[in-house]
Amino acid sequence: MTGGLESSFLTGARSARYFPVDSGLEVAFAGRSNSGKSSAINAITGRTRLARTSKTPGRTREINFFAVADDRRLVDLPGYGYAKVAADVREQWRTLLEHYFSERQSLRGLFVTVDIRRGLGELDQIMLDWGARARVPATVLLTKSDKLSRSAARRSRQELAANLGGVPVLAFSALDRDGVEPAREQLAAWLGLTAIAAGR
Ligand code: GDP
Repeated sequence: MTGGLESSFLTGARSARYFPVDSGLEVAFAGRSNSGKSSAINAITGRTRLARTSKTPGRTREINFFAVADDRRLVDLPGYGYAKVAADVREQWRTLLEHYFSERQSLRGLFVTVDIRRGLGELDQIMLDWGARARVPATVLLTKSDKLSRSAARRSRQELAANLGGVPVLAFSALDRDGVEPAREQLAAWLGLTAIAAGR
């Protein structure tokens, strides 16, 4: 027993009719492909199996749901940003995600992972807009902060925060664990859990 969140894969949904029952509380993770979303989920939950499951072939375009406690779920939204995906795939993705944000009553928080060296992209902004429209609080995890010096990371965080007008921005590194504890506290608060035990 190493701590962290007990978690189990519930289902991967390619359309809304496969979503689990919309009760209890859940927190979603969104991010461009390669932004460090899986690593962030693993670092925050202390469970490496979680995000690996949703990277298995066939699951990358699904919304993947994990149970982390009684009627509490983590939701791994499909990554975005592959330049060459076909227009119909992009459209399916958009429909699925838009549906998820507009309908999901149990959604209580959204993490968006943004690579600190790339900055906010158009689709990141769309995720934040959809979350805001659904009145779901969001936090941006500015990932791979270890790639920059401390002062450069701080500057990036401040610049982005100034542009986002109120959305909290957290410098984050799965590698050196920068920001992991505050992200855990945020997750626990959104899910109504008292704490998430430290663990890796
Ligand atoms: P995803 O596609 O958004 O789920 O991204 P992954 O978590 O798979 O990470 C994409 C790449 O970024 C991998 O090569 C990771 O090793 C790397 N990466 C993820 N998090 C960090 C981090 O905190 N620091 C560094 N230096 N690299 C990271």
